[in-house]
Amino acid sequence: MSRIYDRVALLGLGLIASSLYWAIKRDGLAGEVVGYARSSETRETAREIGLCDTVYESAAEAVEGADLVVLCVPVGAMESVAREIAPALQQGATVTDVGSVKRAVIDAVAPHLPSGVHFVPSHPLAGTEHSGPRSGFAELFEKRWFLIVPVQGSDAAAVDKIEALWQGIGSNTARMDPDHHDLVLAVTSHAPHLIAYTMVGVADDLGRVTDSEVINYSAAGFRDFTRIAASDPTMWRDVFLNNKDATLEILGRFTEELFALQRAIRTGDGEMLHDYFTRTRAIRRGIIEAGQDTDAPDFGRVKS
Ligand code: NAP
Repeated sequence: MSRIYDRVALLGLGLIASSLYWAIKRDGLAGEVVGYARSSETRETAREIGLCDTVYESAAEAVEGADLVVLCVPVGAMESVAREIAPALQQGATVTDVGSVKRAVIDAVAPHLPSGVHFVPSHPLAGTEHSGPRSGFAELFEKRWFLIVPVQGSDAAAVDKIEALWQGIGSNTARMDPDHHDLVLAVTSHAPHLIAYTMVGVADDLGRVTDSEVINYSAAGFRDFTRIAASDPTMWRDVFLNNKDATLEILGRFTEELFALQRAIRTGDGEMLHDYFTRTRAIRRGIIEAGQDTDAPDFGRVKS
C-alpha cells in the first residue's frame, strides 16, 4: 500500500501505540514512525525490540516535523501532553488520539492546539488486557472498528486522510458524534468492565470461598471476568473519571434490570428468566454474524 503520511509521531508507547507502529510499518503507510515515552524503562524496551525508528525523551521533540501526531497516553494524561507539544507542532499537521473517551479528551486537548493544526479524534475498538510496549501486535486492528470523532470545523481532507490510514491497517471505520460515542462505549465497554471488576472483587472478598477455589474452579463466566478485570488500572480509572455521566446512566439501568432478574429468581418466574436469556443470546449471535468474535467454544482457553 502507498504512503499516507511522511512522519508519524506516537506519544506514549503502550499496547495501542506499539500495535500501530507494527501495523503502519508492515503496510508501508508512513515514511517514518517515531515515538516518545516518559519512562526510561519504556524507552529502553522500545529500542531493544526495534519499536519506532527513533525514540525520544521529550514529546515536543518527537512531534517536530511530524504530519501526524497520535496521542496514545491514558485519557487523564492527554491534556498535559497536548500542552507540551503545542508549540512544536508543524503547521498543517493532524493531531489525533486513541483515547477510550471522546468528549473529555476533546475538551482537554482542543484548546491547546494552535490554529493551522487539524484535530481529528479517533478510537480503536480493539484491545487486550495486556499493556506496555511489548504487548503490541500488527493484527490488533484487523476487522475491528476504528471510530473517527471529528470536532466542529474539522478539516474534511484531514478527516479523510486519517480514515485512509485506519482503513490501511485493516480496520472498519465509522464517524460518530463525541457524546453519542461516549454513550455507546458506556454500554459496550465501560459498564461491562466495571461489572467485571466488581464481580472479581466480590469473589475476592467472599470469606466462605477460598482464593484457591476461585482460581482452580473458575468456570467460563468468572474466567472471562478475570480477563477483563486484569486490564490496566490507570487506563480504566481515567475512563470512569472521564465518562462519568454516560457510565452512571448505564449503571442505573443495569441496576434496575438486575433487580428485575433478582425478583424473578426469588418469585420463581422461570418464564421471565427464559425469555430474557433468549433475547440476550440473540445479541451474541449478532456479534458473531458481524465478524466481531468467533463462535469457537470455550474461547480463551488454549487447547492442549
Ligand atoms: P498502555 O499500554 O498502558 O500504555 C500507556 C502509555 O502511556 C505508556 O507508554 C505510558 O508510559 C504512557 N503514559 C502514562 N501516563 C503518562 C503521562 N502522564 N504522561 C506521558 N505518558 C504517559 O496503554 P494503552 O492500552 O496503549 O492505552 C493508551 C490509550 O488508548 C488510552 O487512552 C486508552 O484509553 C486507549 N485505548 C486502549 C485500549 C485497550 O484495550 N488497551 C483500547 C482502545 C483505546 P510509561 O510506559 O513510560 O509508563
